[in-house]
Amino acid sequence: MKILVPVKRVVDYNVKVRVKADGTGVDIANVKMSMNPFDEIAVEEAVRLKEAGIATEVVAVSCGVAACQETIRAAMAIGADRGILVESEIELQPLAVAKLLKALCDKEQPTVVICGKQAIDDDSNQTGQMLAALLGWPQATFASKVQLADGVASVMREIDGGLETLEMKLPAVVTTDLRLNEPRYATLPNIMKAKKKPLDIVKPADLGVDVTPRLATLKVAEPPKRSAGVRVADVAQLVDKLKNEAKVI
Ligand code: AMP
Repeated sequence: MKILVPVKRVVDYNVKVRVKADGTGVDIANVKMSMNPFDEIAVEEAVRLKEAGIATEVVAVSCGVAACQETIRAAMAIGADRGILVESEIELQPLAVAKLLKALCDKEQPTVVICGKQAIDDDSNQTGQMLAALLGWPQATFASKVQLADGVASVMREIDGGLETLEMKLPAVVTTDLRLNEPRYATLPNIMKAKKKPLDIVKPADLGVDVTPRLATLKVAEPPKRSAGVRVADVAQLVDKLKNEAKVI
């Protein structure tokens, strides 16, 4: 069983992002970039399925600039067997990525695609769902437990009221939630080994996909600064402030 894991290169979650002065986007020059945290969880899950003898191959795929090779190598250091970079200088929106992944699925024929539930840069939460729709495959989003057996995926997922478990026929798309697992740290020997694993580079045109952006970002702005909170002495003062200052009751 082959598992395909899409991994996105994003601004590291520890970085405090700054909006560009001209309001066209977020400044990513000289900023630390890392694998999207939900994708690390996806790689970890795929590697665990391989270690359990359920999967036979884990393929990490990243779509974006040449530097995404680092993200693929990071996935290989966790345990992915090989990688594919779909190289593009154009900004790739979720539908474009989903189309690229669909073309790769047609070629690679994985049994499962494990995506992150969302990328922490644009917070779109769309790619996995769009991919499942394009493939005509079932999908289970926000997975907190995944079991694969006898051509069926059993996925526990996080919903507003708690947890639900779905069963679906393979092939399928699964997207990871935070509590699915805790990704391992890549050891130095595994980082070194990852450098030697195969990594193919293709272009969107090789896959017959037009990645021209469909959405235009009109403006990116900082959220308004929040003023500092105040500590009230008692409930009476709180009610007074809510009534007379905030005017919300
Ligand atoms: P999004 O829909 O942008 O929030 O992304 C959801 C998931 O789709 C991510 O966690 C990745 O698994 C995958 N994905 C999105 N964009 C890319 C990309 N450029 N390259 C590889 N995977 C991606």
